[in-house]
Amino acid sequence: MILVTGGAGFIGANFVLDWLSVHDEPVVNLDKLTYAGNLHNLASLQGDARHVFVQGDIGDSALLTELLQKHRPRAVVNFAAESHVDRSIHGPEDFIQTNIVGSFRLLEAVRAYWNGLDATPKQDFRFLHVSTDEVYGSLDAQAPAFTEEHLYQPNSPYSASKAASDHLVRAWHHTYGLPVLTTNCSNNYGPLHFPEKLIPLMIVNALAGKPLPIYGDGMQVRDWLYVKDHCSAIRRVLEAGRLGETYNVGGWNEKPNVDIVHHVCSLLDELRPRADGQSYREQISYVKDRPGHDRRYAIDARKLERELGWKPAETFESGIRKTVQWYLENPQWVAQVQSGAYRDWVQTQYANA
Ligand code: NAD
Repeated sequence: MILVTGGAGFIGANFVLDWLSVHDEPVVNLDKLTYAGNLHNLASLQGDARHVFVQGDIGDSALLTELLQKHRPRAVVNFAAESHVDRSIHGPEDFIQTNIVGSFRLLEAVRAYWNGLDATPKQDFRFLHVSTDEVYGSLDAQAPAFTEEHLYQPNSPYSASKAASDHLVRAWHHTYGLPVLTTNCSNNYGPLHFPEKLIPLMIVNALAGKPLPIYGDGMQVRDWLYVKDHCSAIRRVLEAGRLGETYNVGGWNEKPNVDIVHHVCSLLDELRPRADGQSYREQISYVKDRPGHDRRYAIDARKLERELGWKPAETFESGIRKTVQWYLENPQWVAQVQSGAYRDWVQTQYANA
C-alpha cells in the first residue's frame, strides 16, 4: 500500500492511473479536492478495490495519523500543492498554508508513523516529495541547465513556497533521519491538465474561438516533459533513489512559449481545421507580461539518467500530438472542469474511506 496526496490533480491522477497500470499494490489517495482536484480524472478506477479515495487536507494532522495507522503504507508520495503561479501572485495565502504548513504537518505525521514501525518496514519506508524546477529561479539564455547543485533562488510566491517545502523535507532527513527523496521536475503537459495552464488553455481557447493569450514577447523558455514520463521517473526514484537525494526530472525540450503555441495551432490546423480555413494562429493575442516572470528554466536530468537509468519515452513532438488528440477526444472532461459540475458528481459517487 502507498499513500498518495493530491492524487486527484493533474500529475497525481496520472500517477495513480500509471501506478495501478503497472502494480497491483493499492493506493490510498488523499486529496482536498480544491478547484484543481477532479475525481472524474479517476473515473476509470470506479469499483477498483486497489484505489481508496479520501477527501481531506494534508494540513489535518488527526486525519493523517488516522490514515497512516489504518492503511500502514510503505511509502508516501506527496503531490498535494497549490500549483498555479498566477494564482500565487494574486493570493499567496493558500500557497503558504498548503505548500509549507501542509507539508510540515505531513512530514510530522509521517515521522511519528515511521518511528513506530518495526525494523524492516522502517528501513524500507520512503517519503517522496514532488517538486518543481521553479525553485532554482531564472536562467540567462546561455547559462547551463539546472543541476541538483544549483542554488535555490525562487522568484514567485508559488516557487518560494515549494522551495520552503523542499527545505523542510531535506531537514527532516538530516535532523530526524526520515528516509526522504525529492524530485524537481520541469513543466509537465498531457491529459487531465487543468485548462488554466499554457498548453490546455491554448487548446481549449482555440477550439472555443477565443483569443490565445501569450504573456509579453512569448520568449520565456521552459523545458517540457510529457506527464507519463514524469510518472515513470517518480516510480523509478521511489524504487531505487538514494535516501536524502534530490533528482532533477526533465525532457531536454527547451522551448519558448510562443513556439509551444505555434505548435499547438499547427496540430489543431491539421486535426480539427477551423471552419473558415484560417489557421488558429489568427487567434494569438499578446498580453501584458506576468510580474516577475522568469525568463528561462532548463533542467539537467543526467543524474537520474545515469544513476537510475531513467529516460523519457516521448519526444516533445509525440507527446504534444497525444495531448492535443486527448483534448479533442474528451470535450466532456473540459466541459465538466469548466462548469464545476464534477463537484456535485463527487458527492454522489464517492464516500470517505
Ligand atoms: P494540480 O494543481 O493539478 O493538483 C494539485 C492537487 O492537490 C489537486 O488535486 C488539489 O485538490 C490537491 N490539493 C491542494 N491542496 C491540498 C491540500 N491542502 N490537501 C490535500 N490535497 C490538496 O497540480 P499538479 O500540476 O498536478 O502538480 C502536482 C505536484 O507536482 C505539485 O506539488 C507541483 O508543485 C508539482 N509539479 C508540477 C509541475 C507541473 O508542470 N504541473 C511540474 C513540476 C512539479
